[in-house]
Amino acid sequence: MTEVIDVSKIFGEDVFNESTMRKRLPKEVFKKLKETMNTGSELDGTIAESVATAMKDWAIEKGATHYTHWFQPMTGITAEKHDSFIAPTGDGTVIMEFSGKELIKGETDASSFPSGGIRATFEARGYTAWDPTSFVFVKDSTLYIPTAFCSYTGEALDKKTPLLRSMDALSEQALRILRLFGNTTSKRVIPTVGAEQEYFLIDKTVYEKRKDLLYTGRTLFGAPAPKGQQMEDHYFGVIKQRVSDFMKDLDMALWRLGVPSKTKHNEGAPAQHEMAPIFASANIAADQNQLAMEMMQKIAKKHDMVCLLHEKPFKGVNGSGKHDNWALSTDDGQNLLKPGRSPSENAQFLTFLAAVVKAVDDYAELLRLSVATAGNDHRLGAHEAPPAIISIFLGDELDEVVKAIIDGRTVVKKSAYFDLGIISLPKFKKDNTDRNRTSPFAFTGNKFEFRSVGSTHNVATPNIILNTIVAESFRVFADQLEKATPENFDDMLHNLLVDTFKKHGRVIFNGNGYGEEWVKEATEIRGLPNLVSTVDALPHFEDEKAIELFTRHKVFTEREIHARMEILLENYYKTINIEAQTAVEMVKRDYTPAVMSYQKTLCDIIASKQVVGIDIGVEKEIAVRLCALTTSMTSKTKELCALLDDAKDITGVLEIARFYHDKVFAKMNEIRADVDELETMVASEYWPVPNYGEILFSVK
Ligand code: ADP
Ligand code: MG
Repeated sequence: MTEVIDVSKIFGEDVFNESTMRKRLPKEVFKKLKETMNTGSELDGTIAESVATAMKDWAIEKGATHYTHWFQPMTGITAEKHDSFIAPTGDGTVIMEFSGKELIKGETDASSFPSGGIRATFEARGYTAWDPTSFVFVKDSTLYIPTAFCSYTGEALDKKTPLLRSMDALSEQALRILRLFGNTTSKRVIPTVGAEQEYFLIDKTVYEKRKDLLYTGRTLFGAPAPKGQQMEDHYFGVIKQRVSDFMKDLDMALWRLGVPSKTKHNEGAPAQHEMAPIFASANIAADQNQLAMEMMQKIAKKHDMVCLLHEKPFKGVNGSGKHDNWALSTDDGQNLLKPGRSPSENAQFLTFLAAVVKAVDDYAELLRLSVATAGNDHRLGAHEAPPAIISIFLGDELDEVVKAIIDGRTVVKKSAYFDLGIISLPKFKKDNTDRNRTSPFAFTGNKFEFRSVGSTHNVATPNIILNTIVAESFRVFADQLEKATPENFDDMLHNLLVDTFKKHGRVIFNGNGYGEEWVKEATEIRGLPNLVSTVDALPHFEDEKAIELFTRHKVFTEREIHARMEILLENYYKTINIEAQTAVEMVKRDYTPAVMSYQKTLCDIIASKQVVGIDIGVEKEIAVRLCALTTSMTSKTKELCALLDDAKDITGVLEIARFYHDKVFAKMNEIRADVDELETMVASEYWPVPNYGEILFSVK
């Protein structure tokens, strides 16, 4: 008999969520805390003690002995340091204590986390500060407190701090627009995010035999398997029992932690899958996505599998992304990117839409760099993921509306139109759910889907950028429209929309984003930036207009921008450095000896055949080619080692990163070509590592 699971009871069981708070906190305290959570206002210090005690008692009932300030440093993963609740009483016994001060602020040694130079000139100490807008939870006998992580002087050393700042900026500017449309009740505008997570699952035994997977998360070598995704039989296919068992455990674990895992299915490539949660505020969605990635890896292990989160674990096979679904909601539940029912709602919708179009065009470089990492470079433009060129897909219907606005026409077509009469805007059909999977930034009915985000990325980064650039459009719009009188508001708005779509329409593209023609059109005709690699993209962080944007909206200081760019560039070349060293080790210690053994067998056969005078044509042909490839592989590997040495003499992070991109990475690809050909020639029993077929079909 199937066990009945009461999901509604399990969901959020390990989370100190609103319903638990209501039960456990004094009424007044609950009210004040909720106010902070809803409006992002400062926490009333006097309630901290009461909240801390309630949290501790609840956590202890859940089996917790420790608490930790959980934060998201620039390493890309989360960090935690556990302290127990014990406090000595003086008579040799302890009691369990947790103060308001311990809840609100933690001190930590920041010196071992990337700071991009901020640390060097200041004290090594950093602090973590409770983020009351994200619930605390219990995991592994520990109370987890989501926190922001700053230097002692208040500079952000993490991803949460700027995300919260960007949410404030967005809310402030979006409310100005809402007020213009007569909304006097909404108190806050919140970016909502649903992060669809793609991943691979492979068997532990094949994983452990691949040093490249172990050290770098991706295969540095590997010839294509005869069967890949040609048959298109994996996407949405029947889920294998082992994978299904994993997914069930994952759902359970996520639900307990209050992560609303909603959808699970097989993805395009063999061994590739996806989990999509129900959306939440950007801040909570980012925290929950970090938890989801952690849980995927943990639970895979329990099932003797490994979860690969890398953007491109296998060459020639679809990579993994993380679609960042993004919309704007008011605190009273109105989705501002949803076409409305009344004429004025639609004028408002078009204003928000225009603001996004303007933002994406004005700051395409920033959006691009928000998803720039060594891993994602393999994926963007690899013909299964969006190109490095940022454009917006609106769908035919909405595109027609935009064109009509520009031309001053009225679109009249079939049924289900909106009446935009009051400002003489054209009418458009409501249900615009066209999909274009090749677009990096697609409007999908009531939200945008930013598809360039990589599977390992912390979604905080792209959302910091999105929130800020859209806040800036709102600011510019509000500055203009606030000058209008009730009499000329409609006209002014109309002109603003026309001007905006005219100026920024170049970023709207509904065609095939994977084609070569698009690259030509985008760069040569439309003048859109095509920042192919991370080293092309990241320097734009320090463009004057970027500094102006971030400082104006108080999302980053100039020093923080500089520090962040350094960290990201460092991260880029360190990643390639590790990959290069792994490649060298595999060539020298795995591939070369394997090829030599096989060569010896061949040569033994040749020698013995020659003794009796039998034709050695085939063996010789193979042996000669093996020899040529081995020689080439060996000399290129030497060159790679020399390059790694040269890199040590280069100064300046950008220069080092460029060198790694232009020289080191390029050389690795040359070596790979030799190794991959060798793989197709050497007898299977001699090949030292599992091949693509064995890995991709390892989970039976
Ligand atoms: P698909 O894109 O596969 O058709 P859905 O549209 O149902 O699937 O949703 C995909 C993701 O977008 C889900 O994670 C969902 O929660 C999220 N999503 C839906 N509405 C919003 C919204 N208003 N804001 C942010 N994310 C949203
Ligand atoms: Mg989707």
